[in-house]
Amino acid sequence: MNCKFCSSQTISGKKIQSPYVNYEYTLYQCKQCKCRFFDIKEHDVDIEDVYDKYSTKHNKEVASFKKNFYWTRQVQRIEKILNRKVLSVLDIGCRTGDFLMHFPDNLDREGVELSENSAEIAKGRSLTVYQDFVENINFDKQYDVVTCYALLEHLLEPLTFLDKLSNMVSPGGVVVIMIPTYECVKQWIIDRFTSVRWWMYSPPQHLNFFSKQFLDRYLAKNNFKLVDRYWTSGGMFNPFRNILLAGRVFGKSMTLIDEYPPVNKLPIFDHMYSYYVKIK
Ligand SMILES: [Zn+2]
Repeated sequence: MNCKFCSSQTISGKKIQSPYVNYEYTLYQCKQCKCRFFDIKEHDVDIEDVYDKYSTKHNKEVASFKKNFYWTRQVQRIEKILNRKVLSVLDIGCRTGDFLMHFPDNLDREGVELSENSAEIAKGRSLTVYQDFVENINFDKQYDVVTCYALLEHLLEPLTFLDKLSNMVSPGGVVVIMIPTYECVKQWIIDRFTSVRWWMYSPPQHLNFFSKQFLDRYLAKNNFKLVDRYWTSGGMFNPFRNILLAGRVFGKSMTLIDEYPPVNKLPIFDHMYSYYVKIK
């Protein structure tokens, strides 16, 4: 087995139990590029079946929409980074279009979404939605902003995807990538001091774990420059979740810690946000 990312042969592996199927998968770790990955072909599993069974979230999605603090902050960040007015935005893996709805309705708001249920809701909100794999879609223009939140870790061919994405961004445009990162204090503590599986190691749904070094170099090769990066808990970290008032207070505090420096400028939590600008 060679590294899926850099083709190096310097990889080691350890077994991780899948939370979805009754198999262990090998977590490959590349010493060269520091990326980690699972091989979906290690077991004969119907991946669509796994998604159908465990994506109950999709069934509960409803058409009602209310702006929220998190996506409002995302839009503000992007507008600040893009050195001109946003005219077009493409969100890959847009679900019901909640994020896109935070942009004004007089600009081009487009999304890619495979789930039919979610895509229908997004279309009902007057968003343009492509219901296919990005690799199969013929985009006839470039976008000011292309975003992919919690997407890269699921893809069979993440590098092919990044190449296509790079061509879809106009010069000076912005790419936002949010991925789970094992290069953080949280994962290190879990790995070092507990026998618990880091919940992001969830094959065969999560397959790719980019190192930040490799991600930055790969995008640099495609003419992108990193302009901002931070780490958040993704709203997932709340030991007081089941205690009513304490849970709410802790949750609100975590949101602030996630959204504002200085804590989010350190790799403590496992959701890594990277903002790149296309330099030519
Ligand atoms: Zn590698």
